[in-house]
Amino acid sequence: MGAPPQLTPEQRSAALAKAAQSRKRRAEIKSRIKSGDFSIDAVLELSNSDEAIAKMRVRELLEALSGVGKIRAQALMERLNISATRRIGGLGRHQIKELRNEFMKTTHAIRPGKLIVLSGPGGVGKSTVAALLRKSGDFWVSVSATTRAPRANELNGIDYFFISVDEFERRVKADEFLEWAQFAGNRYGTPSMEVEDALLRGENVLLEIEIDGAKQVKAHLPQAILVFLEPPSWEELVARLEGRGTDDPERRAHRLQLAQEELAAASFFDHVIVNDSVERVVSQLVSFAS
Ligand code: 5GP
Repeated sequence: MGAPPQLTPEQRSAALAKAAQSRKRRAEIKSRIKSGDFSIDAVLELSNSDEAIAKMRVRELLEALSGVGKIRAQALMERLNISATRRIGGLGRHQIKELRNEFMKTTHAIRPGKLIVLSGPGGVGKSTVAALLRKSGDFWVSVSATTRAPRANELNGIDYFFISVDEFERRVKADEFLEWAQFAGNRYGTPSMEVEDALLRGENVLLEIEIDGAKQVKAHLPQAILVFLEPPSWEELVARLEGRGTDDPERRAHRLQLAQEELAAASFFDHVIVNDSVERVVSQLVSFAS
C-alpha cells in the first residue's frame, strides 16, 4: 500500500471544514428525528443524495427514533443482519426494505416533498411565478445566495441572500450549495441544507434558477422535476428585458444574448410551459407536485 496522499494546508482545512459541517448536519438530523419531524423513511430516501446522512451509522439513526433505545436498536440490527458499525449509505436494498417495513407499522411516515426546478431565459417571468407560488403556500420556495448587488426593490433574506465573492467562495469550498453557477458576471447558488430539510418535512420545494444550475440539480437529485418556462414569443421576451429598467444598457444587451442561448436548452427539461398566463403556469406547477 502506498503512503497516504499529502494534503496541502488549504486542502486539509477544506477537509476539516467539510467534516465539521457533516457532523453538524448529522447532529441536526438526529435531533429532528427525535422530535418526530423526520421519519425513518424520509431519512433513508434522503441518504441517496445527502452524504452527511449516508455516513451516519444505522445504530445512531435507530436510537434517535422515539421509542427505540439502545437495546431495541441492537436487537433489530441483529435480526436484520445489519453489522453494528454499518452506515446508512452501506445498507443493502433488502435491509432498507426491511427497515422501512419495520417502522411503517409503528410510525406515521412523512412522504418527502417533490422538488420542482423552474428555469428559462432571463425576463421570461420566473420570479413572478415563484412569488405567486410562495404566497399560495403550495411550495417552499428556496432563497438563493448571490454576489450580485441588490436592486432597489430587493430585500436581503427574501429575494436573495446578498453575499460577498469571498463568502460565496467559502460556501462553495464547504460544499454548502446544492448547485451554483455564474450568470451575467455574478454568482448564484442554492443552499442545500434548507432545501433538503424542507423536502424531509414533506414540503414541495421550488427552485427558480438558471439552466446550468438546473442541470446540476438533476445530476445530484434525479427525482427533481425540471420545468422550462418559455416566452410566448421572442419579441415579448425582448420587450420584457428592455422594459425592466433595472439594468444598464450593456448588461441588458448581455442578458439578451444570454437569453438567446438559454432558449436553445429547452429540450433538456422534463416539461416546457409557455408563459402566456401566470395563473396557468402556477396551476401546472402545482399539478406536477401532486
Ligand atoms: P437575477 O439577477 O435577474 O435575479 O437572476 C439572474 C438569473 O440567475 C436568473 O435566471 C435566475 O433564475 C438565476 N438564479 C437565481 N438564483 C439562482 C441560483 O441559486 N442558482 C442558479 N444556478 N441560478 C440562479
